[in-house]
Amino acid sequence: MEQQTGTGEPPQTDHCNWHPHVETALSCGQCGRSMCTQCLVQVSVGIRCPECGKAAKMPTFDVQPGYYAKAAGVGVAVAIGGGVLWIIFNLIFGGFGILASLPALGVGYAAGELISASVNAKRSKGLAYIAAGSVIGAYIISLPSSPSTAGFFSLIVLAIAIYTAVQRVK
Ligand SMILES: [Zn+2]
Ligand SMILES: [Zn+2]
Repeated sequence: MEQQTGTGEPPQTDHCNWHPHVETALSCGQCGRSMCTQCLVQVSVGIRCPECGKAAKMPTFDVQPGYYAKAAGVGVAVAIGGGVLWIIFNLIFGGFGILASLPALGVGYAAGELISASVNAKRSKGLAYIAAGSVIGAYIISLPSSPSTAGFFSLIVLAIAIYTAVQRVK
């Protein structure tokens, strides 16, 4: 009586799809094509061929939750740091009225640059909110020290500052 033992395929090596002379047992986790160690791309969920790997590494607009946490942390730091520097600025230059709103521009610039840097220059709507919130946070922190003479003008400068920050990460 003959028994069939060939339940599993014999171990076989394929040739790399991109390097036809290289034998390999590796294959892409996404498209299944054979690939060698030279061209495999390590991604968070396994290994990919050069083409699938490229697609997996491009999500500039796909901002992961971890990035938001990082961006929010930087946003809070900018709000507090910027707010404190703003207060110091007001204590020194407060007598000049509208001058007191100028730090907003610095905070706006810093918020955009630092938040963008913290997420590897990724862009999204959520990051734009964080950037805007960071500028507004600094403004609120500095508000008690702002001279009342700044008034309406300071709101215009604040709007410009928010715009600057948001454009960097939007
Ligand atoms: Zn693939
Ligand atoms: Zn290869």
